[in-house]
Amino acid sequence: MHTTHCRRFALALLALALPLSRAAAQLPAQPQSPALTAGERAVARAVDAHNAQALALLERIVNINSGTLNFAGVRQVGDVLRAQLDSLGFATRWVDGAAFRRAGHLVAEHPGPGPRLLLIGHLDTVFEPSSPFQRFERLDDSTARGPGIIDMKGGDVIIIYALRALKDAGLLDRMNVVVVYNGDEEDSGEPLAEARRALMDAARGAAAAVGFEDGPGDPKLAVIARRGAESWTLRTTGTPAHSSQIFTPAVGAGAVYEAARVLDEFYRRLAGEQYLTFNPGLALGGTAAEADTAGTSGTASGKRNVVAERMVVTGDLRTISPEQLARARRTMREIVARHRPRTSAEIAFDAGYPPMAPTAGNRRLLAMYDRASRELGFGPVAPVDPSRAGAADIAFVAALVPMKLDGVGLSGRDDHTEKETADLRMLPVLTKRAAVLLHRLSAQAATAPTP
Ligand SMILES: [Zn+2]
Repeated sequence: MHTTHCRRFALALLALALPLSRAAAQLPAQPQSPALTAGERAVARAVDAHNAQALALLERIVNINSGTLNFAGVRQVGDVLRAQLDSLGFATRWVDGAAFRRAGHLVAEHPGPGPRLLLIGHLDTVFEPSSPFQRFERLDDSTARGPGIIDMKGGDVIIIYALRALKDAGLLDRMNVVVVYNGDEEDSGEPLAEARRALMDAARGAAAAVGFEDGPGDPKLAVIARRGAESWTLRTTGTPAHSSQIFTPAVGAGAVYEAARVLDEFYRRLAGEQYLTFNPGLALGGTAAEADTAGTSGTASGKRNVVAERMVVTGDLRTISPEQLARARRTMREIVARHRPRTSAEIAFDAGYPPMAPTAGNRRLLAMYDRASRELGFGPVAPVDPSRAGAADIAFVAALVPMKLDGVGLSGRDDHTEKETADLRMLPVLTKRAAVLLHRLSAQAATAPTP
């Protein structure tokens, strides 16, 4: 998941308290249900038959550094996955990232008569070549540590081996699948619209999108809603004068009191609404105040006896749906538009990750995944609390695709840290779940009446 939007599950904290062995032990070892078709049983067998190869592929790509800004490394991971998809009969292409100052993306298409299914991965990690964390390391039979092993090279491998199992079982031929591996998920290129164009183009006409980001550390959960995250900058001005004249009609309240009014009204009007948060993270005020373009640092100067002329505040805004986002922005603009005497204020919103609301379509897709999991003998799958799910690339297709599911990549813990660890026992489990889901999505819509 994406770095700057604090994407990762706060739930990872809970997972810390839960040893990996417990997470896996929660999966009941039940027999496969007779509801599985012969083809689906063949898919499950094919996943097991290829598991050693899947693990080898995971080790191989984890050992290629692909920090977002290591363009050669990102391309190299893309080349490895591209060869895999070529061998599965996909038409593959590399989308160059020069236009958004990143390595680029890998896009692979398998046309077929079935409904279009979009599978989403990413090639990059947060660990640049300067990081000491570079290698895949086997800790024991069931766990391995490595940069990006769950975020999200494990999910990337699940995509490949779910498709391979479907091909082995003779079920891929009629499927209509597009795979997008972005090269800049952890540190998106700019402009963002350019950087996500390939993903959004691939999403058009898709019936379902599945993201293979690492889940919440518990294979009994998956993601059907993610809060969007964008940023805002509030700027206020006041009338500079000797402090002894503050509050007089000619001087008014000054820029700092105006910014304080705005922030206090944000808090009083909007705090506490479910799934809505907004955090002022940096505030600078005085006679002169300016934040840098990233909004993460800046300079300010002023004197105790001079009424403040400028204040700048940068913050974020997280919402669960486009409606909540629109409402929050409207309220914030209304608050900003009123002023204390002799001051002005303006707010600018900078679009970031859009929200992915928990739609009925997403619930339907989770229900299919849950049923596939239970019938494979792996127990039920429930939705993650959206307040715990961070931003990820699937949100960019939220408005384009009726059914979305994410967080069904490889389980483990501590992503974005040097303790990033995968539960390797979950690799075949999650690959089977994904493959059966994709097969059923194809088969189901193929038999549905055409509108
Ligand atoms: Zn990720």
